[in-house]
Amino acid sequence: MIGRLPPLDCARPDRERGQLDRCPQGTIADGSEACKRATDRVVSIRGGVALYLPGAACQACPTCGRTALLRGAGRGVDLLAELCRRKGWQMESALITGGAGFIGSHLAERLLGEGVEVYILDDLSTGQMFNLDAIRDSDRFHLHLGGLDDEQLLMELVDRADVVFHLAAAVGVKLIVAEPVKTIETNIYGTELVLRHCAKKQRKVLLASSSEVYGKGEEERFKEEDDLVFGPTSRSRWCYGCSKAIDEFLGLAYCKARRLPVVIVRFFNIVGPRQVGHYGMVVPRFVQQALDGGPITVYDDGEQVRCFLHVNDAVDAMCALMRSDEAVGEVFNVGSDRPITINRLAEKVRELVNPEAEIVHIPYAEAYAEGFEDIRYRVPDVSKLRQAVGLAPRYDLDRILTDVRHYLSSS
Ligand code: UDP
Repeated sequence: MIGRLPPLDCARPDRERGQLDRCPQGTIADGSEACKRATDRVVSIRGGVALYLPGAACQACPTCGRTALLRGAGRGVDLLAELCRRKGWQMESALITGGAGFIGSHLAERLLGEGVEVYILDDLSTGQMFNLDAIRDSDRFHLHLGGLDDEQLLMELVDRADVVFHLAAAVGVKLIVAEPVKTIETNIYGTELVLRHCAKKQRKVLLASSSEVYGKGEEERFKEEDDLVFGPTSRSRWCYGCSKAIDEFLGLAYCKARRLPVVIVRFFNIVGPRQVGHYGMVVPRFVQQALDGGPITVYDDGEQVRCFLHVNDAVDAMCALMRSDEAVGEVFNVGSDRPITINRLAEKVRELVNPEAEIVHIPYAEAYAEGFEDIRYRVPDVSKLRQAVGLAPRYDLDRILTDVRHYLSSS
């Protein structure tokens, strides 16, 4: 259990209110004249608001080693260290909403491996208990079964965590078309509650969004600043992208208006072990179909284009963004930028998993509801992510398919 902070007494009249500042002199401040001028603010905190005290030198924060704080400031030093911890520069504990899901469970595993205390909130609507088999015995792992609308539980968990990864959402095109009310409610109302409580406690939050927000835009490579182009509201497919776009607006608004540190990631076809094909995800569907002897069902002409990113690469990106100051208030595409047609994907699966499996083509009307519109070409521009955290994918498509085959054939 993480104890509560002692109440702060920082309302001294000789201090002025303002935002926390890092020492612009670099990582370890040295107390030089320049450093004194730059950081003649010392900080104590109430509700995320910093109080400045002019005229003191600075030194490195003992928690994050980077943020400047006052030499000899006594209790202020501890308080700043606590704020750093809570702001996500240091991640000792994390809440993952939707942590029993495909991406969440991989993230939980990674964070536990790094020594982080992990809290999961999941209602098991699409998440699975067995996704947590590898970690459920860890002392630092805490699973809470419940929905985002259990506000009391959500509030307590946000309070315990330094940072929040908000992954809980209705996912998968098939589920969304089948259950539009649930999609809209979970994705908008749930996110609003998470943001509200994170703002109260000033917890850094990473919001999971989706390439679906680009709608049916026709750019060669989607950039974060591109327009969003949706179809009519009579087609429930678009409610997913729209609901995620509202989440993004909300997150950015909280960041601006309430100074909540928010990072938004738009996932592009993240794949890997533990993803299931029930909700329309093409990679586990094809691999399972091939394992079952076929046929592999390609929708329409199969010339649709996608890029597939291994979930471990996505987790790398999420952790790096959560630890980056520069990422706050920004939106990032997270995906691979190596395009492949669905026809070619089907052939690759057949070569790797079962050369005997037949590949058949099925009209959209048979696969989805009448009037379904697919996205023909979906490739992200990931230069912003690369610049921010300097990551390149570690896993290629062959490795992804091998991992998925291994998982599906052994589960
Ligand atoms: N797809 C397919 N056969 C399937 C499942 C999906 O041909 O059994 C196609 C689907 O129409 C889409 C692509 O594969 O063009 C990727 O589908 P998925 O649901 O995995 O991702 P999204 O469409 O959300 O990118």
